[in-house]
Amino acid sequence: MNTMHRNIAANPPPLSFAQALVSVAAQAALLLETSPAQEAVSLADSLGRVLAAPILADRDQPPFDRATRDGYAVRAADLVSGQPLRILGQVRAGEAWPGDQPPLASGQAIEIMTGAPMPAGADAVLMVEHAERSPDNATLRPATGRVLAPGANFVPRASEARNGDCLAAPGTRMGVPHIAVAAGCGLTSLSVYARPRVAILATGDELVEPASPAAPIAAHQIYNSNSDSTAALVQLAGAIPVRLPIARDRHQDIADGIRAGLDADLLLLSGGVSMGKYDLVEEVLTGFDAEFFFTGVRIQPGKPLVFGRIPAGNIPASNAHPARYFFGLPGNPLSTMVTFALFVRPLLAALAGEKDWQPPFALARLTQDFQHAPGLTRFLPAWLDTTQAEPTVTPVPWHGSGDLAANARANCYLVAPEDLPLVPAGTYVRVLLRG
Ligand code: AMP
Ligand code: MG
Repeated sequence: MNTMHRNIAANPPPLSFAQALVSVAAQAALLLETSPAQEAVSLADSLGRVLAAPILADRDQPPFDRATRDGYAVRAADLVSGQPLRILGQVRAGEAWPGDQPPLASGQAIEIMTGAPMPAGADAVLMVEHAERSPDNATLRPATGRVLAPGANFVPRASEARNGDCLAAPGTRMGVPHIAVAAGCGLTSLSVYARPRVAILATGDELVEPASPAAPIAAHQIYNSNSDSTAALVQLAGAIPVRLPIARDRHQDIADGIRAGLDADLLLLSGGVSMGKYDLVEEVLTGFDAEFFFTGVRIQPGKPLVFGRIPAGNIPASNAHPARYFFGLPGNPLSTMVTFALFVRPLLAALAGEKDWQPPFALARLTQDFQHAPGLTRFLPAWLDTTQAEPTVTPVPWHGSGDLAANARANCYLVAPEDLPLVPAGTYVRVLLRG
């Protein structure tokens, strides 16, 4: 292991927000070339998991020509004359018109319910509202001028999917629509990727672990909130948090913590990445021969963010990936949360085997002028209001990257572009959603 100390003064200049995104995306793409281990889960436990095998249509969908309206199965051409049609009987959802009956002939109709299969010979459904039955129920007369094109009011067999079609590909994160599509094929269990394990290492001499009964805490100490918030973010991302004990601002302590974290699929440190005398994280990582992709990003909160990987020679060979990725998240609690959302989340998606992950950005109209010093892309606690027809966003007053209270009064982050010193009220701006 390399024991040389990193020359921090030689750090390259911080990347722009866009450059840092590209850097993480490049590593995410590399990770996606290797599939994580697979396991089977029940459909009920599959929400939020990533598919390892495709969900294939078990038969044509719909499996029969399916009526989408209550009414009468008819031959569309018969409606042109407006002549009464003779009602042969009815077919309900869950039934089929007997196969030994002759196909529906001209002048005939069969009462049909939504979800029922179309009888042979019929090519449209006349809605019940558009037909008048004779008092003896033997015939119906279409409403005046009511004509239908063939194909009206039913979905033809196999028009949604053919037997064997892929309905959800490997790499899909199971959401409610995918649960529905799997159940719609009669599946009760699925093959998914193992969830990544994420080691969480908070560093700082001032930190005290929240505990019950409460540990004594001096006025100059603070509770370690980053480990809990990061663990929650890891869980929300569908991964498994592995909390490590706090590392103090000493080489040995941080190195021990990093070593303990190398068992996991991803290592997240918080704190100790700024320019202070006791910010030792980069130096200690250098001792593990770490490769640094960047050591700063022009964003606020989160400027000192560090991203890199430790090569195979220095990690236990416990998983499929040849190197161990790490982020040195800045210690300020909002910096930790914002940099997770922007940069950790996409890498974690790739580690989970999830393809096509998208950052949760939206657009909303700014309710007031917003001014900031240019040069940094800012992510500011804000309130997104989507209760009205037009979404609006209002910054929440804050006292910087440590302001947990302001963050808890916000429901999103307003994105202020680095090159726009004044964003006037009424402008559509990007917001970063939570979760
Ligand atoms: P650092 O990045 O170590 O310079 O820390 C920046 C600020 O974040 C300091 O005010 C720290 O006390 C605070 N901080 C660092 N780590 C944590 C943590 N785990 N929980 C809460 N605050 C933290
Ligand atoms: Mg610190």
